[in-house]
Amino acid sequence: MSNSIRTQLVVLGAGPGGYSAAFRAADLGLQVVLVEREQRLGGVCLNVGCIPSKALLHVAKVIDEAAHTPGVAFGKPKIDLAAVRAGKDKVVGKLTGGLVALARQRKVQVMRGAAKFTAAHTLRVDGPDGAVDIAFEHAIVATGSTPVRIPGLPDDPRVMDSTGALALADIPGKLLVIGGGYIGLEMATVYRALGSAVSVVEFMDMLLPGADADLVKPLAKKLAGEFADIRLKTKVTGIEAKKDGLHVSFESPDGKDVKTYDRALVAVGRRPNGKDLGLEALGVTVTERGFIEVDAQRRTGVAHIFAIGDVAGEPMLAHKAAHEGKVAAEVIAGHKAAFAPLAIPAVVFTDPEIAWAGLTEQQAKKDGTAYEKAVFPWAANGRSLTLGRDEGLTKILFDPTSRRVLGVGITGPGAGDLIAEGVLAIEMGADAQDLALTIHAHPTLSETVGMAAEVFDGSVTDII
Ligand code: FAD
Repeated sequence: MSNSIRTQLVVLGAGPGGYSAAFRAADLGLQVVLVEREQRLGGVCLNVGCIPSKALLHVAKVIDEAAHTPGVAFGKPKIDLAAVRAGKDKVVGKLTGGLVALARQRKVQVMRGAAKFTAAHTLRVDGPDGAVDIAFEHAIVATGSTPVRIPGLPDDPRVMDSTGALALADIPGKLLVIGGGYIGLEMATVYRALGSAVSVVEFMDMLLPGADADLVKPLAKKLAGEFADIRLKTKVTGIEAKKDGLHVSFESPDGKDVKTYDRALVAVGRRPNGKDLGLEALGVTVTERGFIEVDAQRRTGVAHIFAIGDVAGEPMLAHKAAHEGKVAAEVIAGHKAAFAPLAIPAVVFTDPEIAWAGLTEQQAKKDGTAYEKAVFPWAANGRSLTLGRDEGLTKILFDPTSRRVLGVGITGPGAGDLIAEGVLAIEMGADAQDLALTIHAHPTLSETVGMAAEVFDGSVTDII
């Protein structure tokens, strides 16, 4: 016998999408049940994604800055791996614990277990204490995504996904990162700073294939000097797990070869968790890859069922999930809302960081969108030089007729924070003059945004 309850809204998954939706809906007066199959709230982002990776990247940054501060010698860093791990886990614990308190304050009922739809207005949660049937008026699916596995790779603990890499079991002598996307490069940055000889292999002809090549160039150049090896246009065709290490076979236009590593991190993308939820039987469209199709209000083809976050489409980013969650909750509560951002920022937290928002040159060329661009090199920015860095750049794409900002791309330390001004400019319909006439504090990296706009505006000021 299963228990059964009724609720106005049930949310499946307590990641950034799910908890944002649940909290907003509760604030708007709805009765909410939030179902999560894992022990802790927070989803991938808080537990095995954004937050632990950034905690470790901070450690990497401290190690690197200590090694490169002119005139100061700290000596070789002594790494207490257990303490590094504990520091990361403490941050995660604080945030996930905070969510429990926030749910309690709002009277959101949190239920542990895996949810699956049984009919249009019911689902079953299989939890540690048995099954519970929930009858609901509305549902929001926020079940996120999981790492893609390369078929045929051995089931060996030395072959890790991002979750395994974040667990920081040891510091391998030689680490191979398969996939030169943001997750692979962020983890590569961490392990390199902790002492591993890191190799990266990427199938495409550049690192971070989704980003503009000029933004990636300074990072690629720096990593070429730091990593043991970067192989582009190369495929991993197999891994043999042997006693002396992982024997990895590569194939590239130059031929085939085999190399040995202590560990490998597979970071070749993420698969949306839209299948096996019983949705197709209700008439909800789930794509071959596992994305749930939704409209601007994040409504599926079944009017009272919504989907948000990684499971509802690209880009698979936490802030996009949270924003969609709020939209869906507001729509369900009877408000007029739609998910219609002009720009969703993307940030790669490597060193230098890379961030972009709105139109990219790659996209503009693909779509035939007309644009003009202004680039301000950070070698001419005082603040950047005081940080011992000169490789960054700030690029703004403008509409040639209206002179409005269409896209912004930034490479350099802190690019992830600086991109916020670009996002706001795009959302507010700002033009070159708006940015050029905005006074940016001196000396800051934000001046590069104003300077790039001035370059486009034709009124360059030679302040360094
Ligand atoms: P998720 O966070 O995936 O949460 C979904 C939840 O649903 C999970 O807790 C899961 O257990 C639960 N669930 C699944 N199925 C069921 C079910 N049937 N019943 C009940 N519960 C279920 N994004 C950024 O924006 N910035 C970053 O810096 C960043 N760094 C990242 C680093 C790494 C290493 C990784 C892996 C990801 C990173 N991401 C980052 C991506 C980010 O984590 C995701 O975009 C975000 O977590 C998506 O949120 P979500 O709510 O859609 O899903």
